[in-house]
This record gives sequence, C-alpha cells and structure tokens, in this order.
Amino acid sequence: MPEIKLEHINKRWGKFYAVDDLSMTIRDNAFVTLLGPSGCGKTTTLRMIAGLETPTSGKITIGDKVVFDSSRGINIPANKRKVGFLFQNYALWPNMTVYQNISFGLTNIKEEMPKIDFEARTNSQLVKILKNPEEVVRVLEECRDKNGKIDSKRAVLKLIDAFTISQFTAKTLFSYHLEEGKDVSEEISKLSAKVKESVEKNHLDSSFQFTENGKVVVESRKMSREEIDLAVRRVSRIVKIGMFMDRYPAELSGGQQQRVAIARTLAPEPSVLFMDEPLSNLDAKLRLEMRYELQRLHVETGSTFVYVTHDQMEAMTLASEICLINNGVLQQYQPPLEVYKKPSNLFVADFVGNPSINFVDGKGDGKDDGSIELEVLGGRKVKFIPSSPLSLKSWREERDREEDAKKLDIARRSKEKDYVEKGNKDEVFKYHIQKVDEEDDSLSEEPVVTDQDFVLGIRPECIEIKEDGKLQGEIYGAMPTGMESTIKVRVGDFLLTGVVFGDLSFRIGSTVNLSVESDRIMIFDRKSGKLITTGRLEIL
Ligand code: ATP
Repeated sequence: MPEIKLEHINKRWGKFYAVDDLSMTIRDNAFVTLLGPSGCGKTTTLRMIAGLETPTSGKITIGDKVVFDSSRGINIPANKRKVGFLFQNYALWPNMTVYQNISFGLTNIKEEMPKIDFEARTNSQLVKILKNPEEVVRVLEECRDKNGKIDSKRAVLKLIDAFTISQFTAKTLFSYHLEEGKDVSEEISKLSAKVKESVEKNHLDSSFQFTENGKVVVESRKMSREEIDLAVRRVSRIVKIGMFMDRYPAELSGGQQQRVAIARTLAPEPSVLFMDEPLSNLDAKLRLEMRYELQRLHVETGSTFVYVTHDQMEAMTLASEICLINNGVLQQYQPPLEVYKKPSNLFVADFVGNPSINFVDGKGDGKDDGSIELEVLGGRKVKFIPSSPLSLKSWREERDREEDAKKLDIARRSKEKDYVEKGNKDEVFKYHIQKVDEEDDSLSEEPVVTDQDFVLGIRPECIEIKEDGKLQGEIYGAMPTGMESTIKVRVGDFLLTGVVFGDLSFRIGSTVNLSVESDRIMIFDRKSGKLITTGRLEIL
C-alpha cells in the first residue's frame, strides 16, 4: 500500500493561486479528508494527485514512484497511477445494466493472480451449505408469494446474500429444491469426492489455490466470472443495490445511481481511492448510513482514502486526518480531535465544530507565573491559566521568526524566473464576535492590534449553567433537541453559545449563572490569529 507525498505543490491560473506551496504526506492506509470553504483548492489538490490536473510546480510521489516532478518534466498520466476515482459528477453507462456497469471494469483487468481451482472451491462451498439444509430452507421459505409459490429470482438473490456466494453457485443451490425435502446425501458424497480428488491432484491449499513445492502458483490472467460476480455482489451489498442489478441507470433515482457509481469504483479494490463529495446527492439518512459504510469499507479494504468535502461534520467523523485548506494554503493537517481541541489558528477554530466556537476579545498581558490577565466582555476581569508552562516572550519571538522566514521565502521565490505574485492575498481570518446588536463589521475601521490583544476560544460544551457560576447572563434563545439543548446566553452586549445536556427547558429572558470550568479553553494571538496555548479560565 502506498504513501502519497506532496512537496511544494503550486497550482495557479494567472495570478490566482488555487494551491499555494502545499507539502504533506498521506500515510499508507489513512483516511484523509480535504476540508475547507468553497473555492479553497480541495478539488484541485485531489485532481493533481490523481493526475487529472497538472500542477504549476512541485513534486508528487505515490509509493516509490515519482508521478509528477516539474523540475524533471515527469508527469505520469492518471490511468497509470493505479488509483480509483469517485467524483461528484459520476457518469454511468446508460446502455448497460447496473450489473454490467459495475462488472465492466473488472472484465478488463488482467494481472498476476494466484491460479485457483474455481470448480473445487464452488463444490466445497456447496457441500458445506448442503450439510445444513434447514438454513437453506429457511431462506427459501421467505421467498414464497401469496399463492405459496417460490419466487425464483428473489430466492437466488436471498441465497447470494445469506451464504455470500456467486449467482452461479446460488442458482445451482436453488436447483436442488431443498424446500421440497429432497435427500441430498448422495450429492454431498459425490461433490466431496470431486473436491478431494482436485485437492490431491493439484496440491490445492485451503483457499483452493494451486501450489507447487509449497508455493502458490501465480499466473497472468483475467478474473473469472465467479470472481467478478463475487466482487459485484460484495460491493452491491455494501451500498445496498442488490435488487437493482438488472435495471438501467435511467430506471434509478439519483441517489441509487450514485450508489452504483460508488460500487463500481470499489469493485476493483483500488489501493488508493479518491472521492470528491461522493455523498452529496444522497438524502440525509442515507448519507449518514453511507458514512458508516465508507468507514467500515476503509478498514476492510486497507486502502488509502482521500476524500474532499466542505461538510466539517463529514470530515470530522470519517477522517483519520483532516487537511484543512484556506485560500490554497494548508492550515492544519492532523487527526480530527486534535484539530478540534488544538486548532492552529482562528480560522480553523471557527471552521471546525458545530455549534461554532465562541470567540471573546480580551486585552491584557502575561504575568510572571505564566498566566494571562485579561479584560473581556465589556469589563469583566479573567485570568487564563495555561495547561503547560508558557513564556509569552518566547512564543512571540518564535512567531516573529516564522513571519520573517515567510517574508524571506517570498523574497527568494520572487527572484525565480517563473515567479508570479499571488493575486489572492492571504489575510488573518476575520473572526466574528456575537453581539445582541449586530454591527456591520465592514463599515467599522480596522482597530490597531497590538501584542496586548488576545482572543479567547470557548467551545459551547465548555460553558455550563451552574448556581455558583460567576458569570451572570440571560437566556436569549434555546434550541432543545431532546438529548441536548443549544442555548444562547446574553452577557452584557455579548452572546455566548452553550450546549447543555439533558432534556431541560429554558425560559427566554430568565437569568442564569454560567461557569467555564473546562481546561480546554484556547487563547489566540490576535495579531497573527495563531493559537498560543490551551488552558483554563478563572473569572475574577
Ligand atoms: P468547492 O468546494 O466549491 O468544490 P474547491 O475547494 O474544491 O471548491 P477548487 O475546485 O479546487 O475548489 O478550485 C479552487 C479555485 O481555483 C477556485 O477559486 C476556482 O475558481 C479556481 N479554478 C479552478 N479551476 C480553474 C480554471 N480552470 N481556471 C481558473 N481558475 C480555476
């Protein structure tokens, strides 16, 4: 299984940088979600790795193979990169049935595979099933119509699923008509003898692969119709389209067509699978169900998944690592909970989490003991106590060093002969403070920001309603969902969002006391927008 490495990847159209100096490594077997607002460069990134878009500069390596290198003129085409795609705009072949759509790609595969005795394998499967006829009868009895007749098509489908067999084996099994109480003991002995003979003659191992001197025999071959059928059945079970196999795409709903497209991509078991919002056409319930399926599929196949979405919930729940992009620039690339708990800057903190994080402006400075005393919410004094020792001075020095290095890097790049200045400039994210009387931010003048300006980031679940809470507020709104309620509490002119568990009811206008006891409060430097550290808050 390959690792994918991107080094200094740029993609620009004129002065517009869709992807700006992106370097990252997608480890083997990862489930990476590319997340970010519309137009931030997610799809472009995915398409460049897949080979559908040519980067302006940089290097991409998949496994031990360099698939793109602008400095050496290497650009391996998409069909040679051995990856599977699943895009928003999938296209099914309209003149083929669902079964043919899924199996078509498989019939063309020809590669080195173990030599298998399929007849012996099928016979052995049949013996196992026939030895337990009650189970087959039970399945068949479920397929009787209102006249008491067994619907053969339905019966075959049921047998396929119940015993994980191909349609050919299922048809043979059905032809024994076990529901009529026939005695199959003679058939069992005959099949068993055949299996035994083949195993001895061809030195078959337990998976019915030919062996020679204890080694599995490998041959360059196409997939057998049994293997193709099993692959089609496996993926159609996953996406629940087993009953539509004989239909044409035009006879399916949009969601069903999308599931066929997913099945078609999964069938050849690609080692890297690229997906661009593949669930966007599905209804909410199916979308959630498919998320579980994708998660399971990822574990079962052991493939590397790279998945584009602008839905942060989808990114959080599916990913082993989230790659968050803004304006073509990588913001953070870490496991979802790490991104949630320690967002690298204000943009990330705001983008991830639902309901959104509370931002609270504060002015103050660090004390000798490492704490930071601040004035917040229109005059309240609070003390921020970092979870681990903090020297603001060193933190600021490091921040300035990074800024200088960035400037130097841009100056160095600007001397390169192909350099084009970035037209879509990066800016510190303009966070939003919720207030009762919303002002139009665009009209107000930019304040002068100094090192004494901080922003606290408080996740809604860190706010608790407590009798001895030191922050007085008034319930401004409450959205109960049964299991929890999202509340908005007015503190002075400000609004804070909290999540309260349990089926409590809140009266709008009633007074509550709030406490913020979590040790996962964030403090950001307002100047750079970067996270300084996390810790707890004492309301003085
Ligand atoms: P969405 O979530 O809306 O699909 P995205 O993050 O996937 O967005 P991309 O499709 O990667 O965004 O596009 C990144 C930026 O590049 C966009 O601003 C887009 O307008 C621009 N872009 C994409 N293709 C071209 C092109 N062929 N020529 C010029 N600009 C382009």
